[in-house]
Amino acid sequence: MIREKSCGAVIFAEKNGGRLYLVERMQKGHFSLCKGHVEGDETEHGTASREIREETGLDVEFIPGFRETIEYSPYENCMKTVVFFLAYSRDTAVAAQEEEVKEITWLPYEEAAATLTFDSDRETLRKAEAYLHGENLVELLSRGRSLTVAVDMYGCPNRCRHCWLSHMPNRKTDDGADRRILDCFRPYFDKIEFYSWFREPDFCDDYVARWERDKELSVNTAPRRFELASFWRLARDPGYVRFLKDVGVGCVQLTFFGLRETTDLYVGRKGAFDELLRATDILIENGISPRWQAFIDRENRYEIVKLLSLSEEMKLKDRTEAFGGTFRFFVHAGSCDGENRKLYPVRIRRGEVPEELIPYFLNYAENRTEKELCEKLKDDRSSFVPHNWNDIVVYVANDYDLFFNFTHTRKEWRIGNLMEDPAEELVRRIVQEDIPALGKARGISVGELVTRYGDPDSERLFEEEDYKMYLLNSYLEETAERNDIR
Ligand code: SF4
Repeated sequence: MIREKSCGAVIFAEKNGGRLYLVERMQKGHFSLCKGHVEGDETEHGTASREIREETGLDVEFIPGFRETIEYSPYENCMKTVVFFLAYSRDTAVAAQEEEVKEITWLPYEEAAATLTFDSDRETLRKAEAYLHGENLVELLSRGRSLTVAVDMYGCPNRCRHCWLSHMPNRKTDDGADRRILDCFRPYFDKIEFYSWFREPDFCDDYVARWERDKELSVNTAPRRFELASFWRLARDPGYVRFLKDVGVGCVQLTFFGLRETTDLYVGRKGAFDELLRATDILIENGISPRWQAFIDRENRYEIVKLLSLSEEMKLKDRTEAFGGTFRFFVHAGSCDGENRKLYPVRIRRGEVPEELIPYFLNYAENRTEKELCEKLKDDRSSFVPHNWNDIVVYVANDYDLFFNFTHTRKEWRIGNLMEDPAEELVRRIVQEDIPALGKARGISVGELVTRYGDPDSERLFEEEDYKMYLLNSYLEETAERNDIR
């Protein structure tokens, strides 16, 4: 007996307050729910996501707790199992995969049930409708998901020219704001990681107590240290490195923009370069690996070569390996968003990256020129809609405006304000990804963005996703009202 397995989902969306289900009319003539064969060692959800994306072009959100299986024999000596999940789509604009799907329609429950060809699909749809009946969609979408909340409670000592977050004035948030912010999300998410920073970590004089407080506020999980630390504090506070050791930091990333003068200029602070070197020594002396990240553009590219030589003169590799650590040096051009958009005119071009730096250039082989990307994407009819693929991460600015972490602190990316908007509405916008910028992103194709904002003669280097984001932000900037811009 041959055994086959497929996975798919009952996909629903909300329109004008009503629930609609997705039904596919297949090329073979029957009407069906979306599903397809498991490939390789895919998980069931992995197969369902891939099949949904391939057949409909949709990125969906699975509703926890719903899993239905049906079994049938598609041909003699074969038994097939199909696993169906329940999935919510924010979008109703679909792109049917022509080889398999003739047409896709969104129908209310009764009509969808009457349209489906097979009873087994109809029964699965009935169970999905019963599962959703009387449930609150916001709670369904947040249930079982993890949330990370990063609050700009203290600010940042630097004003980097490559800052993708954009600059905002430093301000200490009110006492007790952390608890109030957390309480907005607590009823909806089982697991919450809380951070009191999203710019410079530990830019708070009482960083030890602050870290304890972040741990105490986090729900059913603990905040992580990542590979980030404050070089500003490392250079000033002798106790700080011991704290980093105590909390298990093994590696710290330090950002350069060239040598002394250029790094100070790009960080926006005199003395930054010397602090970075001092921080490097302190880390090594205490058994923590430094990692040097250098942002490159056409203005500073030869200085980055000298920076690499400096790291060799300082014997950072040997000194780090002596305590069992690893020193890494890497170069990239950044995302071209936030403050970095202003450096578009001097963005590094193909042919301008010094030979010595190519082995250190992050994902160099995947970088394309703007010209190549324009050619590749000019007929792309799909939309570029940034999305929370796994856990949800949000940033809270020091005026309590709320943003997704894949966006910028500009008005059109704003989810809402934690002191002004009701928590349930904010959570709804988060889980349904319902904010003005994403609405605009859904309404324009990548090809149209290229036509409007791409430069088909440009040799500037980009990674494809970064380039799409650059184009989308060009569109949002153009369509934003002047006073919308933070
Ligand atoms: S890149 Fe980081 S350190 Fe630099 S200004 Fe932005 S938040 Fe501060």
